[in-house]
Amino acid sequence: MKKIQMVDLMTQYQSIKQEVDTAILNVIENAQFINGPEVSAFQKELEEYLNAKHVIPCANGTDALQIALMALGLKPGDEVITPSFTYVATTEVIALLGLKPVFVEVDKATFCIDVTKIEAAITPKTKAIVPVHLYGQAAEMDVIMDIARKHNLFVVEDNAQAIGCNYTHADGRVSKTGTIGTIGCTSFFPSKNLGCYGDGGALYTNNDELAAQIRMIANHGQSKRYYHDVVGCNSRLDSIQAAVLRIKLRRLDEYNAKRRAVADYYDRFFAKYDGIQTPVRDPKSAHVFHQYTLIVEGMDRDALNAYLAEKDIPSMIYYPVPAHKQKMFAAFNSETTNLPITDWLTERVISLPIHTEMEEEQLKTICNAVASFIEKQ
Ligand SMILES: *Cc1c(COP(=O)(O)O)cnc(C)c1O
Repeated sequence: MKKIQMVDLMTQYQSIKQEVDTAILNVIENAQFINGPEVSAFQKELEEYLNAKHVIPCANGTDALQIALMALGLKPGDEVITPSFTYVATTEVIALLGLKPVFVEVDKATFCIDVTKIEAAITPKTKAIVPVHLYGQAAEMDVIMDIARKHNLFVVEDNAQAIGCNYTHADGRVSKTGTIGTIGCTSFFPSKNLGCYGDGGALYTNNDELAAQIRMIANHGQSKRYYHDVVGCNSRLDSIQAAVLRIKLRRLDEYNAKRRAVADYYDRFFAKYDGIQTPVRDPKSAHVFHQYTLIVEGMDRDALNAYLAEKDIPSMIYYPVPAHKQKMFAAFNSETTNLPITDWLTERVISLPIHTEMEEEQLKTICNAVASFIEKQ
């Protein structure tokens, strides 16, 4: 049996090696490393795939979030509503821009922002909501968009973990996550569902003016070469990454289906265990399983994590410390923020290996190891 890993990019590469090697060599031979034809081709292909009017590639997912908030023209002190139960990048960029992150509770079943708690957090200073489609499942976008319209707020979707996820609206329309709010942000970090071989990211929007503003900010605030209209940054996707992403984008639906098959296997196996809550699937969202995350009760989560490690089976805690408990946010009185569900989850979640190359034997080994830990209790 192959070594079990959280993500097996080596085996995945073997299955597309010829195509990838040719594409990368091509970029090198043409020497158009920055803003080459691969980047514009990838941009167009991703626009088509997402059914988004504009895709603007950038250097990474964190930059995408930062550029999105810059493009909306928010002012220092403006408030941005976001979950605390997320990867640090979501909340960090808010603080970095002098905005105030206002942390809202998540839903225990879906791990995404609890939409019933958003309105209570809105003040006259609130300008935006940043929902996170955590682990690959969509937040309640219909409700979030209704609240945003009612209070005149922007919505920036953190879609770093959910690229390719379909969200079905109440009226039956289907949208890709990231294309529903004002701006969507994605990361192409290697382990993401659509990952490159280095760093990469993108923003998407259907608004022409915002797209122009985003493009300008990502390129030193430049509207015309050497004419700088606003303070921007330098954030671009390189051609080698774009070449790899074009190849993997063609397989994204197949990759997400493979992840779902792994999740189905785990779901079936763990159904009989009372202390294990398998991921709840919201019927409005097609889960793309960036992570397969269990909630364990009546057992020591960290002991399970250590037990699996002893057996050479990796598992991860996403995330052990929520944003409102991080030292970096102490200035926002975040330690007095009361988010009991978020705190409860950080003590009980555990993510098992899930990727496009998992074999049944590996799945059996992982499941049996978790089962033997439970039997020892
Ligand atoms: C990965 C990730 C990011 C950041 O992406 P990078 O490309 O690593 O900068 C942002 N938000 C979430 C939820 C992520 O998982």
